[in-house]
Amino acid sequence: MNPRLSALRISLLYLVLATVWMLASDHWLQMAIADPAQTLRWMTAKKYLFVAGSAMLLFVLLHRQFRHQQATISSLSDREKRLSRALNVVEDGIWDWDLRTHRVYYSPGYASLIGLPGDRLSDDFLLWENRLHPEDHDTALAAYQDHIDGLSEQLDCVYRIRHGDGSYRWVHARGRVERDVDGTALRMTGVSRDITRQRSNEDHLRQAAAVFEATQEGLLVTDSRGVIVHTNPSFSRITGYDARDVLGLQPSILKSGRQDAAFYRRMWETLQNEDVWSGEIWNRRKSGEVYPQWQHIRAVRNDQGELTHYVAVFSDLSSLKRSQHELDFLAHHDPLTALPNRLLLRERIEQALARAEREQGGGALLVIDLDHFKHINDSLGHSTGDLLIKAVAERLQGCLDERCSLARLGGDEFAVILESPQQQHASSLAQRLLETMNAPFMVNGQTIYMSVSLGVSLFPEDARNVDHLMQHADAALFQAKASGRSLYAFYTPELTARARSHVQVEAALRHALDNDELRIYFQPVHDLASGRMVGVESLVRWQHPQRGLVPPCDFIPVAEECGLITALDAWMLDQACRQMRSWLDAGIDLDYIAVNVSSRLFSRGGLEQRVALALEQAGLEPHHLELEITESAVMQNFDQALELLCQLRLLGVHLAIDDFGTGYSSLMRLKRMPVHKLKIDQGFVAGLPDESEDAAIACAVIGLGQSMGLQVVAEGVERPDQAAFLLTHACDFGQGYWYGAPQPADVLLPKLPRHRA
Ligand code: GH3
Ligand code: MG
Repeated sequence: MNPRLSALRISLLYLVLATVWMLASDHWLQMAIADPAQTLRWMTAKKYLFVAGSAMLLFVLLHRQFRHQQATISSLSDREKRLSRALNVVEDGIWDWDLRTHRVYYSPGYASLIGLPGDRLSDDFLLWENRLHPEDHDTALAAYQDHIDGLSEQLDCVYRIRHGDGSYRWVHARGRVERDVDGTALRMTGVSRDITRQRSNEDHLRQAAAVFEATQEGLLVTDSRGVIVHTNPSFSRITGYDARDVLGLQPSILKSGRQDAAFYRRMWETLQNEDVWSGEIWNRRKSGEVYPQWQHIRAVRNDQGELTHYVAVFSDLSSLKRSQHELDFLAHHDPLTALPNRLLLRERIEQALARAEREQGGGALLVIDLDHFKHINDSLGHSTGDLLIKAVAERLQGCLDERCSLARLGGDEFAVILESPQQQHASSLAQRLLETMNAPFMVNGQTIYMSVSLGVSLFPEDARNVDHLMQHADAALFQAKASGRSLYAFYTPELTARARSHVQVEAALRHALDNDELRIYFQPVHDLASGRMVGVESLVRWQHPQRGLVPPCDFIPVAEECGLITALDAWMLDQACRQMRSWLDAGIDLDYIAVNVSSRLFSRGGLEQRVALALEQAGLEPHHLELEITESAVMQNFDQALELLCQLRLLGVHLAIDDFGTGYSSLMRLKRMPVHKLKIDQGFVAGLPDESEDAAIACAVIGLGQSMGLQVVAEGVERPDQAAFLLTHACDFGQGYWYGAPQPADVLLPKLPRHRA
């Protein structure tokens, strides 16, 4: 209610009532009291009563008014104090801007926001405006003006304001305008908050997020239970898993299985104790590929120290490892030929020497140098020279098997390590390497003839350490160059001579096979009891055009070593079968013809077919053929040999164990062998009858044969007393000079027994 109207209404009411009272009361007194003096006294009393009543009424009204006023003032004061206290504690700055006077009330919080003591705070609008950052000045004012103009529902803007310490602080201001009934803006009240720290936190977060997104390292965040809650793009790039593939899963999906449970246990222990773990770990990509990564895991705790997350940062080490591998390759290989270089060669020699020592093996180092290579460079240019070096490397490599390892020592020099205990291998390899250079090279459209010289040093014979071995091979190479090039030389002259003769024999033997220089001789076998010739053993001889008849011991080992023995055996088998057939056709009374089977042919497979073919081609019945197999060939791979012997026996041929007594047959094995005969090695026969050990062995073999139902042949019988001893001890057959030396068929023919007509 309008206070003025209320007061007027009360006063008018009083005026009316008082006037009515005065007029009516006088009249009533005059009517009621006849005595004028009495009436006058009553009138006087009535006046006093009226005044007293009015005073009381005035008192009541004033009292009520004052009390109300006082209560209002006190409540206002309380409210003001509360507000002031609130404003004091609020960190935000509160302001109240009178738009008509441009006076501004700034709260104490505002003073601390802009870093001014409370007493220096004026109520000037410019106090704020002058402190705005020049870059934000216009936009801030425009935001205020827009709101005043009603273009925005409330003021909401961020700007920088200068602090008392000279720095700029980020401020977020919000406010609202108060308008009169016409919509005219009267004042604007608002709150300003210092958001500098928040901005900086946001900046940091933004930067962290950018790092998270852009870093090359894979990032994986799990909650405290190890459930994946976040990954970054590099995680996906490295592992192949999209974030949505793995969110909600455990990182164990990446496990490769390369590390055992103990590894992960140790990792978790370290994480629990130290909150961090770093190390190399092998994981599996989505594609299944296993790869190494360097991983750093950190436990994240909140302010209360409770574990909230684990963050894992990892980098893919596979390319690093690959480049390490490539570096390692470069360090150990020659860039031109990609062959191992001198450094790697030394390592390999060391390993080969150690292996040889451990396994009582051996081998050779062959140093190879191109002959007159400078001429190529000088005449055709360095780049052609390079191409030739590459071509030579390829050709050399083509000659090598798994026992060899080739390296380029530098320049036009190569080396081969050969691991084989047999010296002949070194010489045949050297020879092969020399020969492989015979064909010309086609380089850059040019035909180039190139030869090499080789130096060979054997281990452990010539040297037991790398340096000595290399020096000796170099010395041998020097020797080869000095002797005319396109040659090889061993470190010791004797070895060189032996090796060269070996190679010469090999070459000559090949020639012999092709040019019918081989001959077949036959040595008679006699029944000791009846003295009858029962069979012959075929033996190979080499009729050398210059050297005459070469004994088998000079060429059979070479033939075995270079593989010619197989061809030689096959030739013998054919010849023997044909010869026997022609004798039988001519009425010769012989039970069988024996042929030796080398261990190489025996172990090679296909022997049964070869024999069957030879018999068929010659038209010879199988029981006329006896195959002699050495005891050692059978024992080398007993089970396989047993099977082969059974097949041969099924074919119908006879089988004899040659050189019996020199190997290590066990009786168990002997019992299982489907053979017909044992041949006592001539070494034991030589000492008969006087040498007791030889006699004992010979008797034992005879006894053994008898007890197993096998016939026994004694080889190398040269004297009658030997024959007599063997007969006495019930040996079945004898063979040797006493009965006849190996002879060609035509020489033997008259001595062969014939069927009686
Ligand atoms: P020799 O028969 O005595 O070995 O005579 P050579 O001319 O082959 O001489 P030597 O082995 O002593 O020298 C090898 C030459 O090879 C020396 C150098 O001119 C040449 N050479 C060395 N390294 C390279 C190379 O990487 N590329 C080419 N094209 N030539 C090389
Ligand atoms: Mg050279």
